[in-house]
Amino acid sequence: MRPAEPDREARDGGDDSAPSPDPTDLRLMARALAMASRAALRGEVPVGAVIARGDRVIAAASNRRESARDATAHAELLAIRAACARLGGWRLTGLTLYVTLEPCPMCAGALVQARVARLVYGAADPKAGAAGSLFDIPRDSRLNHRPMVTAGVLEEASVRLLQEFFRAKRSTAVRASARGAGAPRESHS
Ligand SMILES: [Zn+2]
Repeated sequence: MRPAEPDREARDGGDDSAPSPDPTDLRLMARALAMASRAALRGEVPVGAVIARGDRVIAAASNRRESARDATAHAELLAIRAACARLGGWRLTGLTLYVTLEPCPMCAGALVQARVARLVYGAADPKAGAAGSLFDIPRDSRLNHRPMVTAGVLEEASVRLLQEFFRAKRSTAVRASARGAGAPRESHS
């Protein structure tokens, strides 16, 4: 028996298999992907987020975990903070958060805390995702706010960006270790 009705916008959440994404969703996810590309240029895992009211962008951010040396500097959290600062309050009621990768438990929790109306994400994250993969925080009926969830918007572009980033990182690591392999020979010239 639930003592209170969940937020109205939270019902019917979770249309993971929407065949043709909304044009606004596509446009704003493309913006989130552009933010993710910026993160990659800084050597950060490419994840980007946008918060919008309808088609109007309120905040945009990309992952800054490395450059900020902050374990919590995920794109979603930075976007939520920026949107709260811009709107002058902690409630992001009626807003949609777009993110290129399925949120982790911390970020999924934050979007429930911020009362975000809707979550739209690109690629699923089977290792850390908390919006359907490992956990399903936005659709957990024990919570009193449940954002609607749309998954898989521009999923391939997001996956490609992540794959390219990690491939480049691995080849850099391989080159570095190949250089290191010559070291024991001790060439003091
Ligand atoms: Zn996160």
